[in-house]
Amino acid sequence: MIYDVVIIGAGASGLMAASRMRNKSVAVVDGFDRIGTKIIVSGGGKCNVTNEIVTPKQYDGDSGFFRAVYERFTNRNLLAWMEERGVVPTKQTRVVKNQYFCKSSQEMIDLFRKATRHATFFMNEKVISVQKGDLFTMQTAKQKLQARKVIVAAGGISYDQIGATDIGFQIAKQFGHEIVRPDPALVGFTVLPEQRWFTELSGLSTEVILSVDDRTIRGNILCAHKGITGPAIMVSSLWWRKGKISLDFVPDISLEKLLKGQGNKSLSTILPLPKRFAKGILDALKLEDKPLDRYSSEEKQRVAQIKAYQFAPAGTFGFKRAEVTRGGVATDKIDPSTMESQLCRGLYFTGEVLNITGELGGYNLQWAFSSGWVCGEMITKLP
Ligand SMILES: Cc1cc2nc3c(=O)[nH]c(=O)nc-3n(C[C@H](O)[C@H](O)[C@H](O)COP(=O)(O)OP(=O)(O)OC[C@H]3O[C@@H](n4cnc5c(N)ncnc54)[C@H](O)[C@@H]3O)c2cc1C
Repeated sequence: MIYDVVIIGAGASGLMAASRMRNKSVAVVDGFDRIGTKIIVSGGGKCNVTNEIVTPKQYDGDSGFFRAVYERFTNRNLLAWMEERGVVPTKQTRVVKNQYFCKSSQEMIDLFRKATRHATFFMNEKVISVQKGDLFTMQTAKQKLQARKVIVAAGGISYDQIGATDIGFQIAKQFGHEIVRPDPALVGFTVLPEQRWFTELSGLSTEVILSVDDRTIRGNILCAHKGITGPAIMVSSLWWRKGKISLDFVPDISLEKLLKGQGNKSLSTILPLPKRFAKGILDALKLEDKPLDRYSSEEKQRVAQIKAYQFAPAGTFGFKRAEVTRGGVATDKIDPSTMESQLCRGLYFTGEVLNITGELGGYNLQWAFSSGWVCGEMITKLP
């Protein structure tokens, strides 16, 4: 059989694209045994589908391209689309503000099962290669599939334990697209020996204001065996390239005011931080925990670093732990009004495989849904 469209990847964007194309013969091929594996694990099993505030500022990649796609299927459109199908997410603040969560990720899986009934699914069937003649031919682990059009919705390369492969990047390269270097993002940082103190406090968390590049991020950091993580760190990993990150451990409080008139108290008792955390910072700053009055003026200057503690991450926890892949297929040769390749007619790219990556908070699923929707909607209107 020759399909009108073969979709590589039964993830968020592939499923959304499939759901739009009721008037086409659609096959969806996935290497994993279940659809939407990342939807299932997302949002701690409650699928954080989108955010109340979605703008290009929350995305790495070409903001003009993002906007052109997103404006066609926004957070409001997504919420309405879900509501029409009986799924009503609620707005909550768990790790960042204004997140929309489902009761359970399974709601989204059930929704997509219904919305894609017209499609034929080939599960447990990895795509190995794609060839283009008059038609596209996909060689899978089990058979050859032929189609007039192909949507590459194969995601990024993080979390390969639940199906990720680099097939999307391979296909893009084969047809002449550039790949912006893939890096792990929305992930924790490993630390250099000078910051081992974070690992010794494993399990402790505190709120900070973090500065990376020209961005400030407010949220919790969490000390871990391997280094440092938590929402603020994970968001910063999207923006960090190299160089230093700065942490303000006592946000909204002026040190001057905090320390005023407290000369006879030790710093660890004054700082509004978990005691072990406060001691960890003092160790890191090579400060003895003694009454304030006994600090020399040089030591007092070091105390000031509590509001601007600088460190350079050693690296990240890697792709296996990264919620997303930053980088991917360059968008310069993709038409944002259709998601079609400008280098190969009939070849489309949607979702995380592209060089558009969002912050924590529902931004990546929103992108996967917006780009999948635009692609499916355009193809369905073609004769
Ligand atoms: C633990 C975790 C939690 C997350 N939580 C959230 C959240 O709450 N909110 C949010 O917005 N984002 C979240 N994300 C990110 C979000 O899930 C992804 O960005 C989004 O699912 C990407 O959608 P996609 O369709 O582009 O790719 P994917 O959903 O990754 O789908 C790609 C599909 O392609 C298949 N595939 C890969 N290679 C092949 C091949 N060779 N042959 C056939 N099939 C193949 C895969 O098996 C997969 O099913 C989370 C990610 C993780 C890992």
